[in-house]
Amino acid sequence: MKLFRSRIAPTPSGYLHRGNLFNFLLTALITRSNSGELRLRIDDMDAQRSRPQYLHDIFDTLNWLEISWQQGPKNVSEHIQFFTQSNRLQLYESFLRQLIERAEVYACTCSRKELSEEGHALYPGTCRLKQIPLNTPQAAWRIHLPEGTIVRWLDKAQGKVELNLSQLMGDFIIRRKDGLPAYQVVSLVDDLLYGTTFIVRGVDLLQSTAAQLWLSQVVQNPDFVHTGFYHHPLLMHADGEKLSKSVSANYSKPLHATEASTQAIISSFCSWLGHTTKAKSIDELLGKQSSLFRV
Ligand SMILES: [Zn+2]
Repeated sequence: MKLFRSRIAPTPSGYLHRGNLFNFLLTALITRSNSGELRLRIDDMDAQRSRPQYLHDIFDTLNWLEISWQQGPKNVSEHIQFFTQSNRLQLYESFLRQLIERAEVYACTCSRKELSEEGHALYPGTCRLKQIPLNTPQAAWRIHLPEGTIVRWLDKAQGKVELNLSQLMGDFIIRRKDGLPAYQVVSLVDDLLYGTTFIVRGVDLLQSTAAQLWLSQVVQNPDFVHTGFYHHPLLMHADGEKLSKSVSANYSKPLHATEASTQAIISSFCSWLGHTTKAKSIDELLGKQSSLFRV
């Protein structure tokens, strides 16, 4: 049997919010209950939005929550030296080349303004037949999604998922205007590289999972379809709005500096899952309720 391998994959573009913490706790608990190995992988491809204080916040928060991980950087300097995604650009580029060989990839020079003025919900394929050279400066690369592309998988939290990817995403971007690989490519290539067997993410990423499953089929990589997925509900604000980085980017302090205790976080985490607990740490929680997190 393959070793159960999962990962926590935060982005250092804002202080972490409560929703991120719940995702980390759930991932760590599921991984430990399944005798798995946990990796910390920091998604820092978007260097413009990354800040050193947000990198520190990731390690401080995981340590504060007493989440342990076996793979990946143990601190900020290890991350910068050995694990930053910019070290893996060649891998992402070789994946993009495989996509060019096996699918219809085209350059798109539409500006965000032009697209929003046209008022389409999805990219309408404007540049598909223009034959703009791929090496055009400031051109994004899009991949053509054949109409009626359906992606299905059995999700551990959502049950049977079936998404019409072409209707949901249209021809999506695989390389950004600045020449860097897009999130879908980076995340998939890293998961394949590190042998991830189980991914815990919010339901806002269902579309991304479908896109990544489809990309892995395009390059005929057999591994990703065997990945287990658990898409958990998002934590909402009291007013029903989704918690997001754009909100937390306004936080001037890390959450762990303002929260009274990890016990309070663990208790609200459990009630989010529909349980009650008096546990003060994840060790204690696992001791009492480990069967809850076995998948
Ligand atoms: Zn275009």
